[in-house]
Amino acid sequence: MPFRCTACETTVSNPQATCESCGGFVRYKEVDNRQLRRAISGDPTAALPSFENSHSMGEGQTPLVELSRLDLSPTVHAKLDSLNPTCSFKDRGSAVLVSAVADSSTSWEGIVVASTGNTAPSVAAYAARAGIACAVLVPAGTSLSKLAQVAAHDVPIYTVDGTFSDCFRLADETSDRQILNATAVYSANPFVASANRTVAFELIADLGGPPDWVTVPVGAGPLLGGTYAGFVECYLAGIIDTVPRMLCVQANGCHPIVRAIDRGETVQAWREEITTDIGAIADPLRGYAGDGEETRRAVAASGGTGVALDDETIHTWTHRVAANEGVYTEPASAASVPAALSDPIESDETVVALVTGHGLKESGDGDIETQSLDADTEPLRTALLG
Ligand SMILES: *Cc1c(COP(=O)(O)O)cnc(C)c1O
Ligand SMILES: [Zn+2]
Repeated sequence: MPFRCTACETTVSNPQATCESCGGFVRYKEVDNRQLRRAISGDPTAALPSFENSHSMGEGQTPLVELSRLDLSPTVHAKLDSLNPTCSFKDRGSAVLVSAVADSSTSWEGIVVASTGNTAPSVAAYAARAGIACAVLVPAGTSLSKLAQVAAHDVPIYTVDGTFSDCFRLADETSDRQILNATAVYSANPFVASANRTVAFELIADLGGPPDWVTVPVGAGPLLGGTYAGFVECYLAGIIDTVPRMLCVQANGCHPIVRAIDRGETVQAWREEITTDIGAIADPLRGYAGDGEETRRAVAASGGTGVALDDETIHTWTHRVAANEGVYTEPASAASVPAALSDPIESDETVVALVTGHGLKESGDGDIETQSLDADTEPLRTALLG
């Protein structure tokens, strides 16, 4: 399982999150042109680390649909990663890391994971499938639909009275040779960002080349960084001629990475209060600002930028995308759509908005309007035909 340091290129045989010689983040990089082409033609495992047994449930290979009824300019395609086995993109990483833990060449026997909401049910499902012990930590107040998914797999849930960063610190303290920290940040493990490279391979296949922009809802950013790394690999292998520009989307009430992009500074933790209810991307990076900095560097290298949206805009677009395009997303995911309308993106460009999590993940958290009907069906005719 050859992994490599992204900073000093040292080969790391025992997959760990950071390089022992320079502290850089580690990623799976031993992929040649032939393997990349196989990954693009529909076999993502060709570009992923391989293990004795794969605990895949068919993650990835998600649909790409154009959003045409909203009359957006530029052209916006939505990549429906909400249609993964546990209904978020987190399954790409979970399949790989659970297979790594189950492999007899690694010393891990159990998994601990901190989650803003979607990593927990994802890792819980794959751990259940592989028969591996797992425990999840989430901030108190995490969506009940997401916790119900975890509970279905008989995985214990620990709520922490604090932010996602507090959950991550506790998971980090718990992890060791025997317990893998499966949290979806670069500094927890090398698997998540490595697995997210497959998003790029699928987009190249579906569009016949790279889009101009990819808009990504970001917490710490391994989705953005992994996707970008996949494009760069294909570029270096001569498979594509350009790489897309990456647009980092965060909520106004917690946007440490976008703030750093705007100010042209390195990323600092968000020390202010978190004032957004878009929990899936509310990561204040306290104690691991380097993860955010890794993401900022990927955005900068791509020639991209960042945008912070207020909660009202995000909720409005969540509704708009569902009502006009049939795409039901959780609010954090819908944020990638209005981001496609932000300033630097030109009207003749092609944008892919990553739809990261399904609407069912947070359904029932609000009021639903219904009307009662008796034997008279006339109200139905009026509703349908006016
Ligand atoms: C985890 C998550 C994100 C952010 O992904 P990162 O790789 O942590 O930046 C975005 N949207 C949803 C729905 C998520 O669950
Ligand atoms: Zn290094």
